[in-house]
Amino acid sequence: MAMKFLSLRDPKDAEEPGVIELLYLIQVKDKQRKEAIKELELKGYDLAPYSRNSYEASRDGKVYRLWQRLCPKCGRSFPLDYFMSHRGHEHLWCAECRLKYPQEADKVRLHVAWQLEKGIDPLAEQRCRACAQLLWPSKVKRGQRTCSSACSEIWKPKVVRHCENCGSRLNKNQKKLCKVCADKAREERALNAPAPRPCANPSCTSGKLVRPPRLYCSRYCVVEHKMTSGFYSQISERGMEAIHTYKQVRGEIPEYTSRVETVIRNNKERPPRLKIEREGKVWGKEARFVPALQGGVKGYEGYVLDFSHIKVWAKTKKGCAALLRAALREQRVSLEQEEPNA
Ligand SMILES: [Zn+2]
Ligand SMILES: [Zn+2]
Ligand SMILES: [Zn+2]
Ligand SMILES: [Zn+2]
Repeated sequence: MAMKFLSLRDPKDAEEPGVIELLYLIQVKDKQRKEAIKELELKGYDLAPYSRNSYEASRDGKVYRLWQRLCPKCGRSFPLDYFMSHRGHEHLWCAECRLKYPQEADKVRLHVAWQLEKGIDPLAEQRCRACAQLLWPSKVKRGQRTCSSACSEIWKPKVVRHCENCGSRLNKNQKKLCKVCADKAREERALNAPAPRPCANPSCTSGKLVRPPRLYCSRYCVVEHKMTSGFYSQISERGMEAIHTYKQVRGEIPEYTSRVETVIRNNKERPPRLKIEREGKVWGKEARFVPALQGGVKGYEGYVLDFSHIKVWAKTKKGCAALLRAALREQRVSLEQEEPNA
């Protein structure tokens, strides 16, 4: 009975599959153990214990051992005997998977036979791409495709790249230009860069210059310029106009029913006059308005999340937001310092 191994660890061992077979018998078949050891010694192999219950055989500097490999079905790794059938043929799947899915396993067996006939390696995924030796399961799991650094160099020869400008050799951190050329290019870019210009907000007092394509020195200036130039009222007007035209044509405002529902729901859940904690934005920053009493009068205490040390009080949320805006305007210098990249 000749054994058949799909996964001979090193294909060069295929010349002497008998060694692997005998090692397998030593490890697995108790009755044939003694004969196998005798036969290996007769053939001139030196035997040495390798791990529990197994030996390695060496001759002329070559060492043979049984290996472990992955089961492609369940992804776990097992010693060789988990893959051997009772007829002594190595199956692609482990014994457990063969028991669990007998019909599928038989199909796989036929498919593997067909692959071998066509010269396709059913275990190509688990072999070193350079020397075709079976990889250790942990290496396969880590996604490594070569057995050693020597093999990975054969597989992936080092690419030598050159500077696009002067042709000198690049190291792996340099992408296109060498250090000299890259420095030169950076200087040139700096020289040709557009000159910094003043903030586009006419009432800006910070005196900072901004580099194009930036327009404003801070978030503060963005909002202030949009307010003073009437940008917000313009878009609001445009929106109202669109709604007006829509109403003239169709008799009601866009999405009338859903708007009504939303308003009713909002009024119920968050009545406008009820003092509850509310959220909002001041100068584009998140703000909170918490109900607070002052002199026996119900009102709100408001603060901006980023600058919670500034607190104001007013009877309404709207009034509170206005005070917050004014307070932040006064604190403008510190605002700009804290947010230079608005
Ligand atoms: Zn399995
Ligand atoms: Zn290799
Ligand atoms: Zn260069
Ligand atoms: Zn500005």
